[in-house]
Amino acid sequence: MPYPIADLHCDLLSYLSKIPKSSPFDKEQIACAIPWLLEGKVKLQVMAIYTDVQKGSMVSATKQAHIFEDLLQRYPDILHQVNLAFLENFSQKSEIGILAAIENAAGIGDEQASWKEIYPQFDALLKSVGQFAYISLTHHTENRFGGGNYTEGIGLKEDGKRLLDYMAGKRIPIDLSHTSDLLAEGILSYVDRHRLPIPVMASHSNFRSLWDHKRNLSDEFAQEIVHREGIIGVNFLRAFLDDKVPERLFDHLLYGIQLNENAICFGADFFYTADFPDPSRHPFYFPVAAHAGKYPSILEKLSTSATVPQLKKVAYENVVRFYQKIWN
Ligand SMILES: [Zn+2]
Repeated sequence: MPYPIADLHCDLLSYLSKIPKSSPFDKEQIACAIPWLLEGKVKLQVMAIYTDVQKGSMVSATKQAHIFEDLLQRYPDILHQVNLAFLENFSQKSEIGILAAIENAAGIGDEQASWKEIYPQFDALLKSVGQFAYISLTHHTENRFGGGNYTEGIGLKEDGKRLLDYMAGKRIPIDLSHTSDLLAEGILSYVDRHRLPIPVMASHSNFRSLWDHKRNLSDEFAQEIVHREGIIGVNFLRAFLDDKVPERLFDHLLYGIQLNENAICFGADFFYTADFPDPSRHPFYFPVAAHAGKYPSILEKLSTSATVPQLKKVAYENVVRFYQKIWN
């Protein structure tokens, strides 16, 4: 399958920031290393600025934003900033377009920071990376903005509302991939009630009706995203697909296509797994989706159940159209 690929989520930046002597070219260490991206014909890769809810999260986010800038400066023949111009004639691009995103707004404001520190941090990060592909308010846990995907009974907090107000009109989507259901509900109703111009998406989430997991989207939220012309990136992690059935990857993709073929795309979620404490999570990925070089064979397998126009939409067209619409 010769189609270019757009992928909404990888953790190359946090790997490069936390592992000493790490290299973006190290295929053995991380499944989204640049050689894998090249092999998989990835032409748009969103790179998350991921931080935990802890002291130092803002410094960590700044470091990752600088690594993003450094990648662009160091490898101009391979990497290119994604902007409106890059999206034109996307399928003929030779470089890999990269775009940064915020995974956990703890990188914008830690639990102690005042808003006098948070606004400038937001602006500085944004200036450093050019544009955010999206912001997710939380990760697994609770923070000052709201409840993460493993929390119960915690929705959108006052600080979350304040951050949404600040995002509005800046052409930055809000990401629902790491929200609790209550937080997703809170975000959607706040955005609606105040008519905030904020696009909605899920960068790396699967479907709860196929695999019941808190990280996956309920049909209700998937439909809310579709209804708002957002996009949903299918996640390749074994734990979120169905931890015993590799073919489930295709079921999630096909379920998404059925839900709305203009909304579904890839959000593989390749990250550095070697230091992950929970042994039950290993291996993190099935061989069929073990690294970014697998995209052509994934599309090949998907082609037995999807049409050529559908394959192209999933591979890149939906993502390209989504950002063209936001940035135009
Ligand atoms: Zn994530």
